[in-house]
Amino acid sequence: MSIVETEKELSVYESMAARFDVAAQKLGLDEGLVKYMRAPNREIIVHIPVHMDSGKLEVFDGFRVQHSIARGPCKGGVRFSPTVTLDEIRGLAAEMTWKCAVVNIPFGGAKGGVVCDPQMLSSGELERITRRYTAEILDYIGPERDVPAPDMNTNEQTMAWIMDTYSMHMRHTVTAIVTGKPYDLGGSRGRPEATGRGCMIVCDQALKRFGRERSATRVVVQGFGNVGSQASRLMHEAGYKIIGVADIKSGVFNTKGLDIPKLLEYTREHKFVEGFPGGERIGKMEILEQDCDVLLPAATESVINSKNADRIRARILVEGANSPTTPPADAILFDRGVFVVPDILANAGGVTVSYFEWVQDRQGYFWPEGMVNERLKHIQVSAFNDVVGYGEKHNVNNRIAAYMLAIDRVALTLKLRGIYA
Ligand code: NAD
Repeated sequence: MSIVETEKELSVYESMAARFDVAAQKLGLDEGLVKYMRAPNREIIVHIPVHMDSGKLEVFDGFRVQHSIARGPCKGGVRFSPTVTLDEIRGLAAEMTWKCAVVNIPFGGAKGGVVCDPQMLSSGELERITRRYTAEILDYIGPERDVPAPDMNTNEQTMAWIMDTYSMHMRHTVTAIVTGKPYDLGGSRGRPEATGRGCMIVCDQALKRFGRERSATRVVVQGFGNVGSQASRLMHEAGYKIIGVADIKSGVFNTKGLDIPKLLEYTREHKFVEGFPGGERIGKMEILEQDCDVLLPAATESVINSKNADRIRARILVEGANSPTTPPADAILFDRGVFVVPDILANAGGVTVSYFEWVQDRQGYFWPEGMVNERLKHIQVSAFNDVVGYGEKHNVNNRIAAYMLAIDRVALTLKLRGIYA
């Protein structure tokens, strides 16, 4: 299926598959190899019994999809959500394989999920779900097999529970079983802001290409959680002008630039940006269509789609979120000359510092924050140049270039190893 011909909006898995097919075809790889790389290595479905606070026994469905172990252990987050499906996890697991390959770190991709509504669960219930989920997938994870991390509605505490459950079964402490842990349990300096910092690093590189200065660059950010707030803070400190920010309720906009430290203080108290006195109220989708130089979607998937892509006015799109742009929208943005820094490159700072965390845990030797940030910059700048160079060489847009580069790297590993068929 050609991306340009795709008319309906696609699921995360379908979007991944459509892009994969275009990139694989352009690489001219062997048909059997393409078939093998497209399919996940393993899909695990578990049913998790949990004693609820009420005394009732409840059963939750959980998934772990391991897409590829070609280049190293699988790596990917675990999300808790009432709407999560195996199909979504399958798409996200494959995206992780390509993301790790784009930044050239020695991991394959995985993703996990548990169908539950964290808003409706007590901390004790969440802990019991997490521990039993870990026990159910125990034989398939490990520092050399598959290393989970936080994702939607999971956090440092969830990782601490997974680490403890795994360690209790192993009879010794295994810090490298998860990343995104609290610093005091073997986490890494610089991990909380790594994804936002990575977005800024690639944005800096994009500006260089256009000969622009940070101080003359107006940025709009959708999403003010981990990625969006850290990216806004770091970019504001670096001299960018953040003119709009939105979260799930609404946005705030000020062409003169928002006072980000004050906004952060405001959201710590009020949770949402709504009511912030330093700007005008604006809709959370409307904000995407405002006149700006850089648009940084850092909220959720498919927000830029065939319905609004022709109204995006940014010159540069830095995809902090996973899959914020659908394949039909990609084609529209490309036609309109928007410079897209695709998600598997733009938001790879998180998994890169997760890799650093895993290395530090295995060494039992922890790096200062400056070293983490310096090494992150080195990896993301190299990856940016690799992707853009690949695109120019093959005359494809940055999205397809990133996929081609990643698929090419995984294919090379498989060719060198040989397929045990
Ligand atoms: P988060 O839960 O901390 O924050 C999400 C933010 O987006 C919140 O401010 C929320 O209010 C807002 N939001 C949600 N739906 C929205 C909508 N429809 N419109 C506007 N705002 C909306 O999540 P996060 O960790 O910051 O992740 C954001 C995105 O980045 C996700 O796509 C995630 O998969 C991706 N990502 C995160 C990391 C990481 O290290 N946290 C790494 C790579 C990719």
